Amino acid sequence: MNFKPFYPPVRTLMGPGPSDVHPRVLSAMARPTIGHLDPAFVSMMDEVKMMLQQAMLTSNPLTMPVSAPGSAGMETCFANLIEPGDKVVVCQNGVFGGRMKENVERMGGVPILISDDWGRAVDPDKVEAALRAHPGVKALAFVHAETSTGACSDVNTLTRLARHYDCLSIVDAVTSLGGIELRVDDWQIDAVYSGSQKCLSCPPGLSPVSFSERAVAAIKSRRSRIPSWFLDLTLVMGYWGSGAKRTYHHTAPVNTLYGLHEALVMLHEEGLEQAWRRHRHYHRALRAGLEAMGLRFVVPETERLPQLNAIHIPEGIDDVTVRGLLLQDYQLEIGAGLGVMAGKVWRIGLMGQACNRRNVLLCLAALEDVLSRVQARIERGGAIPAALVALGQAG
Ligand SMILES: *Cc1c(COP(=O)(O)O)cnc(C)c1O
Repeated sequence: MNFKPFYPPVRTLMGPGPSDVHPRVLSAMARPTIGHLDPAFVSMMDEVKMMLQQAMLTSNPLTMPVSAPGSAGMETCFANLIEPGDKVVVCQNGVFGGRMKENVERMGGVPILISDDWGRAVDPDKVEAALRAHPGVKALAFVHAETSTGACSDVNTLTRLARHYDCLSIVDAVTSLGGIELRVDDWQIDAVYSGSQKCLSCPPGLSPVSFSERAVAAIKSRRSRIPSWFLDLTLVMGYWGSGAKRTYHHTAPVNTLYGLHEALVMLHEEGLEQAWRRHRHYHRALRAGLEAMGLRFVVPETERLPQLNAIHIPEGIDDVTVRGLLLQDYQLEIGAGLGVMAGKVWRIGLMGQACNRRNVLLCLAALEDVLSRVQARIERGGAIPAALVALGQAG
């Protein structure tokens, strides 16, 4: 074998993540690697922590990126907060709620599953009924932005229920952070985890997490030892803790953290609320174009995420052929359906840097061309004009 360097093709990433990474982030990651206990690195980490607190709208001291992808952030929450025998109300309205349930079980907890239709928000009435029926629940766990379906749940209403029934809240904000309103302190979320590669537009591999004082107290008063060494926050705190003398826990992914730092600087420059507005604005334009083509959304309008647009695949059209042509002819990636939605829906991401005017128009033009070539019954010629009208309206 004659092995050669790998040069990836240049794609436009409009799937469920990773999203397009800005050249500024890529070039930050190419800067020299230094020691992870180097004073220069430690002060950069302090900035990462401060910028994450700002992006999550929290003053929680225990806010930091876990050195692994979003799934590890999820596991960090459950490994630290859930002990054998703990009852946890878990809401499932897509793929990721199912993974939360799996996490509860693996920690020895007892999940109480609330199921909602895929493509709908979590129903707070069902959650309240479950909390009333099961006294002594330790935590309520749910997904804010369900990336498998494009549905957005009402965090504030759900965390209010958690407090009313005196249990902790664990919130998956992997796809929401940086894309839609997320207020960790105002909404009194106890444990939240996110990911670097969705609306923050970093490469994958880091999972920002944040824990409230209530959550920290629950960790400190555990009856049993945290079952994971790597994700044990009481150990990690010694490394990330503010003012604390840094001690070696694991070697931080130095260059990936440069990337997250740069992405957070860019979010700071744009402004958090402006980033939320931008996601809404381009979503409206994409929606206008898709609907003009006659494509139908999976999620009812009031429960839709702007950053993840799930649409039904038209009758008789082959999923793999269409996505293959988009990739081959337009270098454009859109997402396939997950789980029960495989082969039935497409998921078009407008996340972070990928959420812009060029991508909305590119995606609509490319889809219209490819769908026409495979003889899908769509309306032609109306998508771009409809999107342009929406783009002309103030966000
Ligand atoms: C992507 C995603 C995850 C998992 O993140 P990874 O970085 O792939 O491990 C978890 N929850 C939601 C809602 C996601 O979209």
